[in-house]
Amino acid sequence: MDDYLVKATTTDGMFRAYAVNAKQLVTTAQQDHDTWSASSAALGRTLVGTVMLAESVEKNGEAVTVKINGQGPVGQIVADSDSNGHVKGYIQNPHVHLPLNAHHKIDVGKAVGVNGLIEVSRAAEGEDPYTGSVPLASGEIGDDFTYYLAQSEQIPSAVGVSVFVNDDNTIGAAGGYLVQVLPDATDDAINQVIERIKQMPMISELLLDNQSPEDILELIFGKGQLHFLETVPVEFFCNCSKNRFGRDLEGLPVPQLETMLKEDKGIDVTCNFCESKYHFNEEELGKIIKVAKAEGHH
Ligand SMILES: [Zn+2]
Repeated sequence: MDDYLVKATTTDGMFRAYAVNAKQLVTTAQQDHDTWSASSAALGRTLVGTVMLAESVEKNGEAVTVKINGQGPVGQIVADSDSNGHVKGYIQNPHVHLPLNAHHKIDVGKAVGVNGLIEVSRAAEGEDPYTGSVPLASGEIGDDFTYYLAQSEQIPSAVGVSVFVNDDNTIGAAGGYLVQVLPDATDDAINQVIERIKQMPMISELLLDNQSPEDILELIFGKGQLHFLETVPVEFFCNCSKNRFGRDLEGLPVPQLETMLKEDKGIDVTCNFCESKYHFNEEELGKIIKVAKAEGHH
């Protein structure tokens, strides 16, 4: 099954909902960053939550950046998504593996920690970014997105994100759902949805069982209760290039660039988001220094 996200509303107009299968997306992240189980789950859950958050905004061309740092062993997690199903991200410490928790699951809460914030920046093209942050609820990521949406954006929501890591570190399944409560929702309807979510198996189990994103939403709301609006392919995609890094280098102070030229005879840069490496030789660095001088970066 290919990775995609489905958007839906309930026929009674009380809820908006999203679900995504992201196995290949999280597989690419795992391979690019060589993450171990707890890091894979923490980064994967953040990528899944971020791509759903980006798809849930109504403005076109709005990008979403999520930063999570709970002072746990994995360190900071950063994910970045545009509104076209592209998401990229990295984790400070990719090599974290922890004993399973009491429920025989990867202990993401412990890996991420709970002494810190989830910070979300939204930037529409040509507008100043809006940033909101709230304390982490549990470090389990799904709870943290839920708490952020309720507290910072005043959207009552339920977010579930899940990653299953095989014994050989490959990704067995990854995906999630995001449910938003609309203003017309009744307390009874909300309670019913909460009950169904509580009784639902883990998302990764459903995906391992070849259930689709549509099937997951039908488990929450019941068959025939949804209008499926649109599906969006999702992928781990980084838009970095040598040109882009060249422009970043042009913004550095000239003395720093001259040291790179004299002492290192060039520079190697690595993209945080996808681990792509770019080399700038002496001649290329010389051109960059010319531009930096012309722009007056002393
Ligand atoms: Zn990159």
